[in-house]
Amino acid sequence: MHDYEAVEKLIDRLVEGLGPFDRITRVRIRVSPIYSPDALEQAFEMVTRDTPLEGAELEIEGAGEQMCPSCGARWSPTHDDLAGPWLVCPECASRTPIESTGLAVLEVVDGPAPKTVC
Ligand SMILES: [Zn+2]
Repeated sequence: MHDYEAVEKLIDRLVEGLGPFDRITRVRIRVSPIYSPDALEQAFEMVTRDTPLEGAELEIEGAGEQMCPSCGARWSPTHDDLAGPWLVCPECASRTPIESTGLAVLEVVDGPAPKTVC
């Protein structure tokens, strides 16, 4: 359920900053591989219902490149590279702890700029 809670918090924060006539049509976020993009999208649809974000588009970006400390391989981890609290290197299959566990707003279209990033 952490996907749902994270999205709920994010939307709460965005809605708080909106005026009565503001709408948001697109939100771009950067997420840690601990989140499943499918679950995030589902949660986004549920949480934004009856808010100024209803029908907004959610764009999800991965957390970015990671370097394997064992073999030096660089790759952009996704939810599929996850094994419990670890990321599994696609080259050597060694495990590294997940660095980022957050969810950050990168861009909001047709709304005020995000005030905080977590
Ligand atoms: Zn490796």
